[in-house]
Amino acid sequence: MQDFDTLAIRAGIERSQFNEHSEAMYLTSSFVFDSAAQAAARFSGEEEGYVYARFTNPTVTAMQDRLAALEGAEACIATASGMAAILALVMALLKSGDHVVASQGLFGSTQQLFGNIFSKFGIETTFVPAADVAAYEAAIRPQTRLIFVETPSNPLTELVDIAAVAEVAHRHEVLLAVDNCFCTPALQRPLELGADVVIHSATKYLDGQGRVLGGAVVGNKVLMDEVFRFLRTAGPTLSPFNAWVILKGLETLRLRMEAQSASALALAEWLEGQPWVSRVYYPGLPSHPQHALALRQQRMGGAIVSFDVVGGREAAWRLIDATRLISITANLGDTKSTITHPASTTHGRISPEARAAMGVSEGLIRVAVGLESIDDLKTDLARGLG
Ligand SMILES: *Cc1c(COP(=O)(O)O)cnc(C)c1O
Repeated sequence: MQDFDTLAIRAGIERSQFNEHSEAMYLTSSFVFDSAAQAAARFSGEEEGYVYARFTNPTVTAMQDRLAALEGAEACIATASGMAAILALVMALLKSGDHVVASQGLFGSTQQLFGNIFSKFGIETTFVPAADVAAYEAAIRPQTRLIFVETPSNPLTELVDIAAVAEVAHRHEVLLAVDNCFCTPALQRPLELGADVVIHSATKYLDGQGRVLGGAVVGNKVLMDEVFRFLRTAGPTLSPFNAWVILKGLETLRLRMEAQSASALALAEWLEGQPWVSRVYYPGLPSHPQHALALRQQRMGGAIVSFDVVGGREAAWRLIDATRLISITANLGDTKSTITHPASTTHGRISPEARAAMGVSEGLIRVAVGLESIDDLKTDLARGLG
């Protein structure tokens, strides 16, 4: 087994007859057969090979193989977006009457998908506090098939103890899926900690440059065969163009994650010393309530820093509006730093009372730290104070 850095550059390469050095991009929707007999054999699955790009495409296969290698997994199924990955997971492995336990504070669309959409088809979800291992076990019913978590959470960087929740899941013969969007395999490898499935929004750090949408489900061959059967029929497939962009993004993943995490830590430490900041949320800080767990299950703190400013919404908006460098956008995972006010954007549809109970205050700001100079980022954040 090669090292992560080698796999990130070399895994998944299968050269064509032209022996190209950089990975080729196969923009084709279908594939030609030598004969009617071969077409029949490909369709029946008797002979392995490409048929139609809704099922598989060589560029998508390359990206899947590379990401599987980086997560230390047997297999990966790429999807059109991160949400499509979660849809494919649940449609492939669950059925009406099944029950899910999920961590509170999931990505907004994920919360909607479990809470409002799967429930229409008879798959019910119970949400439990992310850090409370006993709550996952207490919520398990005879019909429970899946525990779904995200760690660290957005925007408050709460952690789920993956190994402890995996132990609970397996004692009850339930699968554990971890959305590894925020850490990526460069910083956290959930399968090694006992998870069964890893979910990715490749739109974020895997591409890393804000160019394309993509997603992936990663796990063992048996489970991924099930996910593939859903995908090839239902069609939330990743385009070969996007797969190629993500494939190339993976080559620099560790370097970007380490540099962005190092900047995030420096920024978090600086913010903690500012009189206009009342609290900083960052797993890499010793003040984080789960710092010991972060050191155990993540290589670094990640690139998301949130903080409460003194003065509530007015002060938060003033700080955001004064920035000239950092992009005001809810997206994250880019080399360009972004800033957002969760209470009025990503969490704006939640009632003020529920928001306060979650800990998303009116003065909360989230910064997804990119690759710009840390000094320029500090200057930009302090601009609104004059
Ligand atoms: C963005 C995001 C998703 C959804 O991914 P898309 O590619 O936008 O569909 C899922 N989970 C997390 C944690 C995310 O940040």
